[in-house]
Amino acid sequence: MTKQRSANMTRYLALLLVALIAIGAVNVVASPTHAHARKHQQHHADGVQAVMAGHESARWAQHRRVSSATTIRHAVQTLFGPGTRNATDKLAWDRLAELTDTYGPRPGGSQGLEKSIDWMVELAKKDGFDVYTEEVPIKYWRRGVESATLITDTWTTPLHMDGLGFSAPTPKDGIEAEVFVANGFDDLDHAGAAGQLKGKIVLLNYEWTKYSDGVKYRTTGAKRAEKWGAVAYLVRSVTPFSMRTPHTGNSQTAGIPAAALAVEDANILARIFARDHVAAPRVRLVMQSETGVSMSRNTVVEMRGTERPNDVVLVGGHIDSWDKGVGAQDDGTGFMAAYHALYLLKHRVQVQPAHTLRAVLFTAEETGVQGGDAYYAAHVNDEAKIRVALEVDEGVLTPRGLVLDGTKLDDAAWDMYQGISAMLKEVGVRGWRVERGYAGADVAKWCKHAVCGEWVNDTGDYYFRYHHTPADMMEAVDPVDLEDVASTLAIYALALPHAE
Ligand SMILES: [Zn+2]
Repeated sequence: MTKQRSANMTRYLALLLVALIAIGAVNVVASPTHAHARKHQQHHADGVQAVMAGHESARWAQHRRVSSATTIRHAVQTLFGPGTRNATDKLAWDRLAELTDTYGPRPGGSQGLEKSIDWMVELAKKDGFDVYTEEVPIKYWRRGVESATLITDTWTTPLHMDGLGFSAPTPKDGIEAEVFVANGFDDLDHAGAAGQLKGKIVLLNYEWTKYSDGVKYRTTGAKRAEKWGAVAYLVRSVTPFSMRTPHTGNSQTAGIPAAALAVEDANILARIFARDHVAAPRVRLVMQSETGVSMSRNTVVEMRGTERPNDVVLVGGHIDSWDKGVGAQDDGTGFMAAYHALYLLKHRVQVQPAHTLRAVLFTAEETGVQGGDAYYAAHVNDEAKIRVALEVDEGVLTPRGLVLDGTKLDDAAWDMYQGISAMLKEVGVRGWRVERGYAGADVAKWCKHAVCGEWVNDTGDYYFRYHHTPADMMEAVDPVDLEDVASTLAIYALALPHAE
């Protein structure tokens, strides 16, 4: 660290401390007189100086929140300071690679998922953590044999497709029908009302704008097409980019089967359909999926707080994935970053946090946030209160920072996070930003009671190239990005607004 950086860090630590003081972080009893107030101000100033000087006075150290400010400083220096962070460090990546190489993808209801959970439990034990699992009954969807074939007057070719989660199967011999192409729901409904969808396979060929706009075509289109008498539903994969990679994902179960096509395959169908002088394309669809119920587990790794064990900061990610690829980004990076944040605090920073830190590896998110919702239902009335719930589930790419939300994100909490953000920025940490916005699916319910948030990247739509595809392999994950995100999460996990 340069002298300038060191000075900056000290300055921002002081700022952070001031923010902590401002939110009543120090043990100051409201003072009835100005004399008392002055005395307390002097007291604060002593503390700031003590922290800036890099050592605590015995008196100052008694203040619990201040000890957390110094802990944060220590953690930043350890995880991001010179000589302590090895640029080639890739422990989290190596662990995720070993797990995914060994057990493959982790769809709900699979051996791969349950064995991966066992592996993480063993790893946490080896790393010296308290770890336990909580059973969650889940419903699952298993893909089975599937194919889609384009049939025209002049050629026949396999289409690159993925059945959608919780789709109905086709009859054993499949379905063959003429295709009708719609560009959106208005188009679909218009054709449906005119009787044009009866007996047809509908392709919804949505042109990508952004994920939140396109995802409804995947999740709700089959039911809509069924209403108008369609016999199957196809959707163009919800992605800005394709190398003939279909993207799977969940769909509301309808009475007709539903599948996604790679962008290129959807476009071929659309172009042929648009030509009046040739026959409409036909598709033959075979899907032998099945649904069922089974038991899975949420996995909880804990560092119990030394002073406030009932105040909990949760970091999480979902351990299940889709069945194509190995779910390296979605959400291998997420659950591993959450786990690795605790690992770094325990083994690198060697801190014993004042409040409880909890990494939760949620199960069965892809099949309907089943683990996250079960975790909330099981713990919302616990004596130990979740004060902050942070999640990583948009992959780990060029780090941007945290997006925060929640009823407890008041000005005081916001200032505290801003203080940490400013400190991280000054010491050159990528992913220093804190912004307001949407928190992830698995922690969304905690927003009613806590500060909630999600990690985000500075890469726009890039994540959606890999999302739910066979290409979501370890090559999609940069080891330094993963280490950086886990390290930054670790810093934020040490901060606790509204403890008292
Ligand atoms: Zn995910």
